[in-house]
Amino acid sequence: MSKTSEHIYTMHIDDGAPSHPGGSNNYFVGDPQKKMVIIDTGDYERKWTKSIIEYYVQLGKPPIEAILITHGHGDHTGGLDRLQDLVGCPVRCHPDLVGKLSRVLGDESMVIPLEDREKIHLDRSVDLEVIFTPGHEVDHVCYYLACDGVMFTGDAVLGASSTSVRDLTSYMKSLELITTYEHDTVCPAHGPVVPPPKGKDLVQWQLDHRLSRERQVLAALEKGALSISDIRSSIYPSDLDERLIPTAESNVERHLDKLVDEGRVCRTDSIFNIAQ
Ligand SMILES: [Zn+2]
Repeated sequence: MSKTSEHIYTMHIDDGAPSHPGGSNNYFVGDPQKKMVIIDTGDYERKWTKSIIEYYVQLGKPPIEAILITHGHGDHTGGLDRLQDLVGCPVRCHPDLVGKLSRVLGDESMVIPLEDREKIHLDRSVDLEVIFTPGHEVDHVCYYLACDGVMFTGDAVLGASSTSVRDLTSYMKSLELITTYEHDTVCPAHGPVVPPPKGKDLVQWQLDHRLSRERQVLAALEKGALSISDIRSSIYPSDLDERLIPTAESNVERHLDKLVDEGRVCRTDSIFNIAQ
């Protein structure tokens, strides 16, 4: 039983997934004597769902007000049907995810869309604020627990690695938004919980890391790089493991997409130039 803060109990599991070192977390938030919510439901495998259920039993089977979903990926929604069967509560998620999760449960009355900035009330002065944070996925949501100074970042910011991003323009806007919420602890879906003092600056650090990558991409273009592979070889080490080249190049491409969106870079077929 691992208590992270006054209102947070963390169920950590070593799922061994290579894409995110440091295992994964499901969170129970609230007072086990009164009522709680569960954040995310883990992957499809039985072992994971069983671990969440055992944890729920250890907490004394508290009344569960809702299951809150950070986004629709399988490692966050895989245990949903079994867990929801057990606790019998509504499921709350981003509006774009309602259709899919309703089909999973076979009951659309149990899946209720979240509203951006909605506050989910748990107890006197214990509220979880919903923050829509597209980027990793369009349906991504973070949750903010002001009373404990905690940000639940889902897959937007991980505890021990950087995350995959579908749309970097909206991702960076989302990180900027998260930094405006005062918090000193980050509770990610994958990797360890990051407590103070590091937890206070982790989101800003991730944002700075992406901004410095962006500056490197612009500098490579200024020096005459034209293609994605030119840019990659200019900013990554020359002895980069060959197996990592596709990831590095897709990372460069995300940055270029963002810069093209913003009108700072022009694209002609697969040739890129600084916009004049
Ligand atoms: Zn995930």
